[in-house]
Order: sequence, then structure tokens, then C-alpha cells
Amino acid sequence: MVRIAIVRKQECNPSGCGGYLCAKACPVNRKGEDCIKEDPIDQKARIEEKLCIGCGICPNKCPFDAISILNLPEELKSEPIHRYGSNGFALYSLPTPIFGKVVGVVGVNGIGKSTAIKIIAGVMKPNLGKESEAKYEDLISFFKGTEAQKFFEKVRDGEIVTAYKPQSVDMIPKQISGSVGDLLKKADQKGIMDHIVDSLDLGNILDTDIKSISGGELQRVAIAATAMKKANLYIFDEPTSYLDIKQRINASKLIQDLADKDTAVLVIEHDLILLDYITDLTHIMYGKEGCYGVVSLPKSTRTGINKFLEGHLREENVRFRDYEIKFEPKPPVQKESKEIQCSWDKISKKLGNFNLTAEKGNVHKNDIIGILGENGTGKTSFVKMLAKVIEPDEGKVEEELTVSYKPQYLEGSDELVITALGEALEKYENQLIQPLNIKPLLMKKLNELSGGELQRVAITLCLARKADLYLLDEPSAHLDVEQRIKVSKIIADVMEKRGKSALVVDHDLLFIDYISKKLIVFEGEPAIRGEVAGPFNMQEGMNRFLHELGITMRRDEESLRPRINKPGSQKDRQQRSADKMYYS
Ligand code: SF4
Ligand code: SF4
Repeated sequence: MVRIAIVRKQECNPSGCGGYLCAKACPVNRKGEDCIKEDPIDQKARIEEKLCIGCGICPNKCPFDAISILNLPEELKSEPIHRYGSNGFALYSLPTPIFGKVVGVVGVNGIGKSTAIKIIAGVMKPNLGKESEAKYEDLISFFKGTEAQKFFEKVRDGEIVTAYKPQSVDMIPKQISGSVGDLLKKADQKGIMDHIVDSLDLGNILDTDIKSISGGELQRVAIAATAMKKANLYIFDEPTSYLDIKQRINASKLIQDLADKDTAVLVIEHDLILLDYITDLTHIMYGKEGCYGVVSLPKSTRTGINKFLEGHLREENVRFRDYEIKFEPKPPVQKESKEIQCSWDKISKKLGNFNLTAEKGNVHKNDIIGILGENGTGKTSFVKMLAKVIEPDEGKVEEELTVSYKPQYLEGSDELVITALGEALEKYENQLIQPLNIKPLLMKKLNELSGGELQRVAITLCLARKADLYLLDEPSAHLDVEQRIKVSKIIADVMEKRGKSALVVDHDLLFIDYISKKLIVFEGEPAIRGEVAGPFNMQEGMNRFLHELGITMRRDEESLRPRINKPGSQKDRQQRSADKMYYS
């Protein structure tokens, strides 16, 4: 059995625990051997994995939760490709770029996706679990007989040129300055700027300073700059964050077009519908957050995503999750409460040059309504009218409502998470704190949190407030698939228990499909006019929305997850002619 011991050096505090409490309790130490000892380099605990018998005593004894002892899957015979120090995070294997294909990576957060990408992009040299950097010859023999061997031979021979879109585009304006147009011109090594600007709809922001554009615009600029570089390996780390569905599909087409016989493309993505749409093959990454990560062999994307949802890799004999992520065969039938939470009738509002109108509609108690639509069609302004933060020019919202709002873009601050959450910590321990795994974040400042961590705290804060209506704007951003599913269940549970309603704006169709009982669809033209239609039942709402987008969707026969049909395929043609853009 391969066993690894992780010591989180930042948490380990030998003087705070009364002096190596773990070592005093270790049965191997008690017999006179040095299984746990003081690390001479940093004076923290160091565990000799070869001596450890896996009794599990030290993780329980440590008052700072600094130790994890883990048995790795039986089948994992290889050495790590990289290890951060002797008791640090270990990464096993790597995703493999394949020329002519778009290869995807799916997995939870914190299991080494960024490390894997940095190694492939040549930004970081792995150490094969040893003390020093590996040589290319070592890497080539490590991957002997696989596609990765060919890839590292090309890296060794200087034949790989990489273009890389990083995960957090928010950092870009802090690192560079200038207008969008000037920056794109500099990146345009292939002379294709006009085409790319057109495909990603960037024409109207070319004169704008990079520091003044929105998250969605930054994402598209970053994708454009990457695609315009001359390279034969393109890597896109989470290309869909902040993009609406239309923009996601446009970006996907552009990314797909990059792959040819001399060019490989790698995409890391949590939006499973888009991952399914963009990629040919997919690697699953599994492991334990902060401890180790394993990259599976590549599978056809359909099989890979289904296995990921199942939590079980049969051929590798690995179960990496103890539950399956399941989808319902039919859209849920809403058992509707008769009590109306809020209602509107022919309301309209003019905001500068933008016109927003909404026909008649209402939200019942216990409703969870997904909101779909392009960015810039007035979703936030509409909810502000429901909350009476802004008054409509015509018509009115009948009921007085209190609204708890989680904005799309989250701001960190110097405040500690524990202070920000205050009494919610005790009050919602079981309902929010535990399922969203907030405890490890309590002593961190809000501005020290990663995007996903800040999102979990913001969702907790929003749901902990007392309100009639909860509005969550893009709660799926930066969360992995498992966290997205968890958030759906938590929102449903909170609304059920409190008899309140939620409006959820999101662009991940799988998440919206999973969470919503009904849909509101925003139509119109971004920044010019927005028309609010609905609420509809899922079938009707999705059909209407997919018509606007010009795509059809079906359920996967095995996992029942939603998938986009290939344009022109038999299924696509059948559904179009029956006017069923969404599966029934
Ligand atoms: Fe003390 Fe925990 Fe560090 Fe061991 S790991 S020395 S018990 S703080
Ligand atoms: Fe010692 Fe290993 Fe047991 Fe920890 S798990 S107490 S290191 S034998």
C-alpha cells in the first residue's frame, strides 16, 4: 500500500502544541524509532513515510489539524511526477496534449491542476518526487511508451511553443496597462486580430483602457490574446468564467478551431456542458484537496464526464467519491405554493440609453427560479426593482420585500472571515458552515481567499441573512463541479426550510438545470434593451432560451446530464423540426 504523510507547515506550531505532541503519541516513535521528528530546516514536524504504519493517531492528536495520513489507491504504482517537499502535496501523472485534438481536464479544486499545467507549459520543472529538478531525459523515460513521451521529446528538442491563458484574469490589469486595442495588436503574432475581435465581439471596447473593462470583457481579451500568439500548444485554464452562454459558445468555437495536426489544445473547465462541447478527450483529476492529485488516462470526453459524475474509474479500480452525481430524467414538476412572494405587471425602466421592460409575472414561496440571458440585458436592475432599490418608471411591484443579494463580482477586504460571518457561524453550523467547508477559512482575511473560497463565504453570508427573496448572481463562478452541486442542494434546503424564494442568475446550464424549478429568460440586445419573460416551467423556458441561442440539447443516455447537440446532427435536426430545443 502506498501511503503519504502530509504536514501542512503553515499550520504546524510545535510550541503551541506543547512540543511535538504528534511525535510523543506516535507508536513507532514510542518504540524508539524516529517516525516523526523535528525537521532541521524549519523546526516543524517531519514524518518518515517509510516508517509510518498508518495508525491514524497523529492527525487526531494535532490541535492545529496540520497532518493528513492517506492511503493512495492500490493501483497507483508510479512515483509522483512532482512533490512539494518530503511531506508536501504530491501530483501523480500529467494530462497529455495531443496534436490535432482538444484535450480537457475535469476535477475538483485543490488537487494540482495548476501545477500540472505549469509543468506542461514549461513554466515549472517537475522533480519526480526527488529533491532536485528532473532532466528531460528522466521525464521521457518516466513516460516511456505513452503520448506524453512524444510530447516531452518535443519539449526537449525545443519544438513546443506554448500560449497560456491563466485562470485568474482579474490579475491582468494589475500587470499590464494600455488600451485593449493596443494590447491585442501587440499579441497578434498571426495577423488575425480582425477575425478574433469579431468572433469574440470585442469591437466596442478596443479604445477602452484594460483597467476599466468588466470581468467578462477581460476574459474575452485574455482568450483573444492567447489565440493570436504563434504557438503549437494552447492552454486555456477556465476560459468560461464571467462569460454568458452565447459568449461561452463563441469562445468554444474559437478554441476548437485552434487544434490541427501540428497544434494541441488543453482546456481546464468546470462547466461540464461546455467541456463536453469543446473537447475530444478528457482526463479526470481526483485526489484529496491540498494532499495529492492523480491524473487519469485520457478517455473520450463523453465517457470521461460520465465517469467523473459516477465517481468511479472501473478500469483503474478507483472510487474517488462515495456518491454519484445524478440527474433527473425529466425536468422537475413544480408543486407550487399558492402564496405569492412578489409580483409585477408591465413594469419598465429607462437607465441611460438602456430600456428594461417586464410583462406580468410572479414569484411564489419556495420557488427557485433560474435566470438566463446575455450579459447586459438588465438582470441586476430587474432584481433591484423587485427589492425597490430602484423604482420603475411605469407599473409597480406589488409586495414589500426584503432581498438578500450576492453580487457577481466579489470584493475582498482586511476583515477576517470569522468576523464577517459573526453569529451565522453558530446559527447555521449544519446548514451552511459545514457543507460549504468554511471552518478552514475562518482565520483568513477576505482578501487572502482564492476565488472559490471567497465565493463560498459570499454564498454563506447571503443565505445567512434574513430575507423574503434571495438573489444569487453567478454563484457557480470559481466553484468546481462538486461544489456547484452542493450549493444547489443548500439553496434548495434553505428555501424549503424557511419558506422563501431564490432567484439564481448563472451561465452554467448544467447548474441551472440542476437547481431551478422554473426559469426567467432575459431577451433583447445587450446595453440597449432587455425584456423579461417568464417565469416559465423548465421545458418552456429552456425551449425559448435555446431558440434564442440557436442550439438544441439532449440528455446523455447513461448519466442523464444535459448535452449540446452537434449542429446538423440527426438529433439536432429531429429536435428542431419538432420544435423541441430542450429534451423532454
Ligand atoms: Fe504539534 Fe501538530 Fe506540528 Fe505535530 S504537527 S508538531 S502536533 S502542531
Ligand atoms: Fe506515527 Fe504514522 Fe501513526 Fe502518525 S499515522 S502516529 S506517523 S505511525
